[in-house]
Amino acid sequence: MTLTGLLFNIQKFSLHDGPGIRTVVFFKSCPLSCKWCSNPESQRAEPCLLRDGGKSVPDSREYSLEETLEICLEDRPFYEESGGGVTLSGGEVLTQRQFAAELLRALKRENIHTAIETTGYAPREVFEEVSKEADLLLFDIKHFDEKRHIEGTGVGRAPIIANLKSALAFGKTLLPRLPVIPGYNDSPEDARGFASLLVSLGAKRVQILPFHQFGEKKYDMLGLPYPMRGFPQLHPEDLEEFRGIIAGQGIDCFF
Ligand code: SF4
Repeated sequence: MTLTGLLFNIQKFSLHDGPGIRTVVFFKSCPLSCKWCSNPESQRAEPCLLRDGGKSVPDSREYSLEETLEICLEDRPFYEESGGGVTLSGGEVLTQRQFAAELLRALKRENIHTAIETTGYAPREVFEEVSKEADLLLFDIKHFDEKRHIEGTGVGRAPIIANLKSALAFGKTLLPRLPVIPGYNDSPEDARGFASLLVSLGAKRVQILPFHQFGEKKYDMLGLPYPMRGFPQLHPEDLEEFRGIIAGQGIDCFF
């Protein structure tokens, strides 16, 4: 039987999802429901319709492993020129474990650098099965406090922290990332909480992802309420104190 994955986008020429020029493969389905999610269609495990004016278009479709690989390989010269590769993103990649692991293996056979963007929210064996196939993990941490984590994402942080610890302990090449959201985790106190968590994990570097409003239109297209409507976007200059608090703990902290 042909192995397929439900994907909602394959984006070429990305410069923000790992080193160099990358193709980003977006997986459907996510166990979290972050209030600021810029890809709300990705949360559902099944295809849904996006309404634009009078038209309705499916948000996603099944791709075979061979087709996905073929699309990724089209840009091999750009990966080689720029030190880039392919990043699997979502949604949460770990929800389609077999497709993700097989795609990563197939890319490795082609000598393509691979990364996954993950929340780490999955049972240990699923996380390890997929993450061991990737060259780089881009690991998002939403909050250091359990109650606030549940408020913002709908789930507790225990499996996330356990998987993060295990990946760091195994010496996996990993970049923790902090999506910084106004009114949720952007205060100096929050920065101190993140810094203390990162120090306890032995993390040496972290990337800050300032909140943006790129996903707003998608909520309208899905007919969903958008909890972050009207919230200000954040920019590096708004978060210099936040960055400085984390950097003050000896962690390389950048945007
Ligand atoms: S983890 Fe990412 S894809 Fe999932 S709900 Fe949160 S922001 Fe959206």
